[in-house]
Amino acid sequence: MQPVIPKSWMMPAKMERIICHWTAGGYIPSENDLSHYHILIDGDGALHAGSHVIADNESTSDGDYAAHTRGTNTGSIGVSMCCMAGAIDRPFNPGQVPMKQLQWDAMIAAVAQLCQAYSIPVTLQTVLGHGEVEKNLGRPQSGKWDPMMLPFAPKLSPEEVGEKLRSEVRALLTPP
Ligand SMILES: [Zn+2]
Repeated sequence: MQPVIPKSWMMPAKMERIICHWTAGGYIPSENDLSHYHILIDGDGALHAGSHVIADNESTSDGDYAAHTRGTNTGSIGVSMCCMAGAIDRPFNPGQVPMKQLQWDAMIAAVAQLCQAYSIPVTLQTVLGHGEVEKNLGRPQSGKWDPMMLPFAPKLSPEEVGEKLRSEVRALLTPP
């Protein structure tokens, strides 16, 4: 596996899951975007470290953590693609800053590396999109649907995008 995340961004911590997002912003992360996620992927596929380190989300009782998923931030690593400002879910319109395939691919590589670094298995409950949290973890997310629709593969249903996420991560983790 091609390493993509610098080792210094992955300090040891007990983490349970990885939740994937888009920022609903532009291709360049804003200060606000950086405060909500641990790892962000810009419009060129380059990675940015958020202002909170991953270990900040090991416990959230001190209020010092990346808040990316309502009621589900403890033990959760937040990875986000910088895109999809103004996107509408139904009928699907990706807006003026559509997610690019290269951002998705960079996200898959980052998630696989995080699974390896933190010993996180690839299951419905441990590697998932924000839009799957309500269904898979039973924690209401007030209609969040990121990143379950793909502008480069618009025919895929959210369920199929979730499967694509996990199968592509598994493929990177499986030695050839
Ligand atoms: Zn989200």
